Amino acid sequence: MFDSMSFRAAFSSVINSDFVYFDNAATAQKPDCMVKALSDYYGSALGSAGRGQNPLSEKASAAYAAARRSVMRFIGAAKPSEIIFTTGATDSLNMLAASYRRRLTKKSNIVISALEHNANYLPWKNACEEAGAELRIIELLADGSLDMDAARRLIDENTLLLSVTAASNLTGRLTDVRALCDMAHEAGAAAAVDASQYVPHIAPDVNVFDCDYLVFSAHKVYGPEGLGVLYCRESLLDTLAPFRYGGGMAEEHGGNIIPLPSPERFEAGTHHVAGAVAFAATLDFLSGFDAGEKLAYTRSLSDYVYSSLSAGRGINFIGHSRENLPVLSLTFEGVSPSDIDLMLSMRGFCLRSGKHCAFLPVSRLAAGGTLRISIAPYNTPDEAEKLVFAIAEAKEYLLRKKI
Ligand code: PLP
Repeated sequence: MFDSMSFRAAFSSVINSDFVYFDNAATAQKPDCMVKALSDYYGSALGSAGRGQNPLSEKASAAYAAARRSVMRFIGAAKPSEIIFTTGATDSLNMLAASYRRRLTKKSNIVISALEHNANYLPWKNACEEAGAELRIIELLADGSLDMDAARRLIDENTLLLSVTAASNLTGRLTDVRALCDMAHEAGAAAAVDASQYVPHIAPDVNVFDCDYLVFSAHKVYGPEGLGVLYCRESLLDTLAPFRYGGGMAEEHGGNIIPLPSPERFEAGTHHVAGAVAFAATLDFLSGFDAGEKLAYTRSLSDYVYSSLSAGRGINFIGHSRENLPVLSLTFEGVSPSDIDLMLSMRGFCLRSGKHCAFLPVSRLAAGGTLRISIAPYNTPDEAEKLVFAIAEAKEYLLRKKI
């Protein structure tokens, strides 16, 4: 069984906090081992990775390469060269969109879904607008799931790429990534997966998804800020042009500049070695816990919050399903989510209200925005109970004030 107390014990920032943190879909708290790895690297191991032959440079290069291999194993990739470090999921998706922008024509289309975070919407919208190409959006069914029949109709021989989220940051809804990737491949298109909300709860496997690209940010899976991943299937690496030009990504032969192979080709400039090393420490920590048990635990907290609050009147759960990841989006009859958020903030709860950088799903499911509760394995039943009580109380108070 998942030992939530030993998981929680690894997070001093949680244990010593005066706040109750339920904003995990925005960013996760950090385990002590990750903070220590960051500080150890800067304190005693810093060198310029990929540059120079001095001992610290070589040590940093080896640590950076080892971190890349950790990420490779984490997502089931075949080769380190398939792992490109970026500054985050947004960066990864912008890089991919910039590359696809060169290939888009007026005849072609990109397919995304109505569950996307803006990071997997706006780069494609912009690329399609610039190229005069079509951006197609797989719509939602009334329950907040993707309309898979519509997906089948939208993905066609002119689709260059399908780019879909594995899980919604608004509702926690999981998508059938494999089925969508299969549809893309059958139409001759490539398939990209935004795993940003998926990775904190389920270890992604690029072989199970059969995706060509996969992106996520380290900070959402208990790792450092400023580090992200762009996985690219080996056979497609040569089809991607370098995204950035600068130091460390090319060689010069007789006046000719020749880009290096991946990953150097895509990682111009000084690397975030501290971040990569600290992320490897995070992944090592996570490997000590069974992911399935961890998810069962957070789902049990999510179930408790759902069943307690949905029993009361005037509270709606948006796109909820028990199979979702433990992310709950709520609206209230007669009360705005941001007022509840504000009241709860004053009582030490960290939640999030608004549109959650998710214009597409919010406009379809809850145009006025929602209050989001996102649960992590360091949250406790006691915290969930206090949260339920505080939300119900805040709602009643705000309703009474209106009368
Ligand atoms: N994709 C999803 C589903 C997200 O939830 C987020 C952030 O909330 C992002 C992409 C962007 O992540 P970042 O801001 O770390 O680049």
